[in-house]
Amino acid sequence: MTNARDLTHDPKLRSWVPSANQADCDFPIQNLPFGRFRPHGSADALRIGVAIGDQVLELKATGLVDTDDMNALMARTPAERQALRAAISAGLAEGSAEQAAWSALLRPQSGVELAVPCRIGDYTDFYTGIHHATAVGLLFRPDQPLMPNYKWVPIGYHGRASSIGVSGQHFRRPQGQTKAPDASAPTVGPSKRLDYELELGFLIGRGNALGEPISIEEAEQHLFGVTLLSDWSARDIQAWEYQPLGPFLSKSFATTLSPWIVTMEALAPFRAKFTRGAGEPQPLPYLDSAANRESGALDITLEVWLQTSAMREAGQPAVRLTRGNSTQAAYWTAAQLVAHHTVNGCNLQPGDLFGSGTLSGAKPEEAGSLLELTKGGKEPIELPGGERRTFLEDGDTLTLRGYCERDGAVRIGLGEVSATVDPSPR
Ligand code: MN
Repeated sequence: MTNARDLTHDPKLRSWVPSANQADCDFPIQNLPFGRFRPHGSADALRIGVAIGDQVLELKATGLVDTDDMNALMARTPAERQALRAAISAGLAEGSAEQAAWSALLRPQSGVELAVPCRIGDYTDFYTGIHHATAVGLLFRPDQPLMPNYKWVPIGYHGRASSIGVSGQHFRRPQGQTKAPDASAPTVGPSKRLDYELELGFLIGRGNALGEPISIEEAEQHLFGVTLLSDWSARDIQAWEYQPLGPFLSKSFATTLSPWIVTMEALAPFRAKFTRGAGEPQPLPYLDSAANRESGALDITLEVWLQTSAMREAGQPAVRLTRGNSTQAAYWTAAQLVAHHTVNGCNLQPGDLFGSGTLSGAKPEEAGSLLELTKGGKEPIELPGGERRTFLEDGDTLTLRGYCERDGAVRIGLGEVSATVDPSPR
């Protein structure tokens, strides 16, 4: 099982990399996330790195793997992944014989370019955030906020992989067709209702053959790890285009990922029960297992931060808009998404990406999008410097952060995903 604890999770374990032992560090030795990097400004091929403290370890140079192909690494069996994790942990642990050799393989994370962490073939965005689905549904369909299928089917749509970028990117405000409710015809122009969605990204490890569904019992073995995902959304374009086939150009212009894949193994101490309240339908058998009920959910604290260009120019730090938790927000687990995605025989491949859907908490102040925080743009939020926002403006930098904290475990983090809105092309 990928969610079993072993020696790599021991809270007493410390690294010979000093920054990894700081209390608030996202990347202690208990985490060991994978990413792809090259030296800043170089045209080198990307290499696989492991984050440790504020450093990145060049993995292939350790001799533990013979590839710099992240997707090949992701395709390994859970047993192979666990063995690799154990070897990396042993090499980075205090007292390791590898310290002298591996010290030369470290670089400061600030000195490298971090890329999208793997080649993403296909991207599916789900809609597991039931509080988000309800709040958004209330705005569009007050009489029936949740569609009748919501509590039975993990709803999703096929997203666009080519426009997925990595934290630190700038993207242009999209243009598109919009139609005001009182207008007789649509117009084309820059979106006026540009929003973010706070999501987790689940990256697929081993795939399945076409025509061979992955059972819920096996689903976790096909999950490689988790990133933060910012699903940029043009609400005015979306409102006009989304019926009858769902989001299209309102989403496909940009999606941003955090650079480090936190593995399912690293998340083992931070699993939670999957529960359904009284009166809620129980999942159909292909979406139900004892293991999923016992520990199918993830306990990750999620935050959203905003810094406007005026704040940046005034030297003011980003302000936190919201903080919530993934367990309470998600109606379906990652394993259920894998089982559902493949129940029809659809094949998944290493490096495929699933978005969780917007993970809004039950309370209004835990909302994972501006659409919810501002009640559809009707109630602007006030920022510390006196600025107001209904939707994102040019120059805004939006950052998502995620971390896991539990008694008896060392805190680990997902790092952050940050991106800045540039003006539309003229
Ligand atoms: Mn989304």
